Amino acid sequence: MPEWFESPDDSGRDGLRFSCTMCGNCCSGPEGYVLLAEADITALAARARVGREEFVAKYTKETLRGLSLAEKQSDAGLDCVFLDREKVPGRAVCGAYEDRPAQCRTWPFWKSNLSSRFAWERAKRTCPGMDQGQRHSVQQIRICRDQVDI
Ligand code: SF4
Repeated sequence: MPEWFESPDDSGRDGLRFSCTMCGNCCSGPEGYVLLAEADITALAARARVGREEFVAKYTKETLRGLSLAEKQSDAGLDCVFLDREKVPGRAVCGAYEDRPAQCRTWPFWKSNLSSRFAWERAKRTCPGMDQGQRHSVQQIRICRDQVDI
């Protein structure tokens, strides 16, 4: 049975559109988690120019699902430890963009958001980049969805 995002939209094309506006909503707010694979830890520790042990101590926290990126307090709530609100005025920029973990790279094409159009619309309330900008093919969406278990 075709999945809902395989159906053509008003423009007659399938897939979904998404372009990040750098609002920072997905990287801030109430306490959350960004789970880390071992390869993420290696890459991010190298980026931060620290060893693994120091990286884990300074940049991560333990959660029930495993090691996660830590958070820091900001006016918007709890920001991801790598969120940079200074670099580009009025924007929230990922300070580890090239090495961001799979959970970040695959947003918003997560199982939880793709389970139904309703779930997608619900996620859209906090992410203004969804249904805007670049179109992603059904195949690209599935590849992202299969990378993380969220
Ligand atoms: S909430 Fe959406 S638009 Fe805003 S930073 Fe996150 S991905 Fe980009």
